[in-house]
Amino acid sequence: MTQTATEIAENWQRLRLRIARAEQAADRTPGSVRLLAVSKTWPAEAVRAAHACGQQAFGENYVQEALAKIAELADLSGPALEWHFIGPLQSNKTRDVAEAFQWVHSVDREKVARRLAEQRLAHLPPLQVCLQVNIDGEDSKSGCSPAALPALVRTVLTLPGLTLRGLMCIPRPGNSAAFAALAQTRQELLASIPGLESGVFDTLSMGMSDDLEAAVAAGSNMVRIGSALFGSRAKP
Ligand SMILES: *Cc1c(COP(=O)(O)O)cnc(C)c1O
Repeated sequence: MTQTATEIAENWQRLRLRIARAEQAADRTPGSVRLLAVSKTWPAEAVRAAHACGQQAFGENYVQEALAKIAELADLSGPALEWHFIGPLQSNKTRDVAEAFQWVHSVDREKVARRLAEQRLAHLPPLQVCLQVNIDGEDSKSGCSPAALPALVRTVLTLPGLTLRGLMCIPRPGNSAAFAALAQTRQELLASIPGLESGVFDTLSMGMSDDLEAAVAAGSNMVRIGSALFGSRAKP
């Protein structure tokens, strides 16, 4: 059910506190973990309510839904919204994503990376890219296997129009060991791939409403939060 603007504001404050506590418990620098508000399935009004609290970064999973919402919110004043595509990305949808989003977290194969690079408009800053890693070998279609990751990293580094920012994962519920594994994978890539810089390849996009504390403890610096902010989604 859609939450009121007041409920969203209360949830947002609670979440900021939860993240601050998680940072403190894990000896992380205060403010080092970004909150990505996952607005999929929720109307533009919900995004407006969160933006009014100071929320800037929003995550979307479905291209058509996102494009409609982005257009509807073009009038929003104040700090510009930052749109992050976090859903499975088919290669026939890359143009829309390359044109309308600032970030993509779900690049998991070379074909999609190349298309995004070719289709990114020349007047826009580079698209900020995280590679989705199938870190716990879950039987799902999304995510690059850890074995194939170094080659994908090397390819993305050569593509103009993209800036490689880090790694993303969606582990099985309860498998919080996967967060440490993704952090370790990032370190190994930094140590072995020339041209990868820790100050640019700096993002670990991991942790959702139910497991943000475990993700922050393992080094997440971008948590993707939907239901704890906007309420529980209807099952598709
Ligand atoms: C929906 C979704 C989220 C948010 O999940 P919640 O459990 O609602 O916080 C985060 N990441 C991805 C990739 C999602 O699809």
